[in-house]
Amino acid sequence: MSSMSAAPYGPLGIFGGTFDPIHVGHLRTGYELMHALQLAEVRWIPVGNPGHRDPPLASAALRLEMVRLAIAGQPGFVLDDREIRRSGVSRTIDTLSELREEHPERSICVLLGMDAFAGFMQWHRWRDIFDYAHLVVAHRPGWPPPTEGPLAALLAERAMPDIGALHSAPCGGIHVRKVTPLEVSSTDLRELLVAGDDPRFLVPDPVRTIIIESGCYARAHE
Ligand code: ATP
Repeated sequence: MSSMSAAPYGPLGIFGGTFDPIHVGHLRTGYELMHALQLAEVRWIPVGNPGHRDPPLASAALRLEMVRLAIAGQPGFVLDDREIRRSGVSRTIDTLSELREEHPERSICVLLGMDAFAGFMQWHRWRDIFDYAHLVVAHRPGWPPPTEGPLAALLAERAMPDIGALHSAPCGGIHVRKVTPLEVSSTDLRELLVAGDDPRFLVPDPVRTIIIESGCYARAHE
């Protein structure tokens, strides 16, 4: 049996984010990566305390609920609330070491956009992340891949363009992937909501409903 036919035991995709709020850019990217890389699942992990950036506007409970509603019904998409349950600053490395204990042999792929990759060397113990997982970096409009400097060197050193290799090695590579370019961001959405505009079609309908009913972003300009 080839590694590619072992889909149920295939790589575990991890999609972390503040998700303040979750939008079609996240969802479509996760969906395309799951299919393109034959991931067994994509685990959506909302950040509890992002530490290095402004605190989210929506509560952790509401962000969790928005992700739950957004992914409902999509086979392979799974909600994981461990970073919200954990106290202190959320660190990807802590999440990965827990997941590695739960899945000792499995390939784990951290999915992230090119903008997040641009800041990767500021992540806590970033070098150690490769002992736990691969990075799968999705293109994002406005964020060309690095062509020089330490990130470009890291990309060249760890490049893993072959999907079979992502399946057979449990960690250590960087795979860069084009996805449908969607110029949607949570920052733009929050601005749109504060201005009183309708987020329809930028977020799934149930997410739009909970945003409107809770008024979680409207409160920002009171
Ligand atoms: P903000 O504008 O608040 O920074 P964001 O839209 O970038 O939010 P995050 O929750 O911070 O969303 O992002 C989580 C992950 O999703 C990151 O790895 C980010 O690169 C990726 N991502 C977000 N939006 C897109 C998009 N439109 N296309 C591809 N990747 C995206």
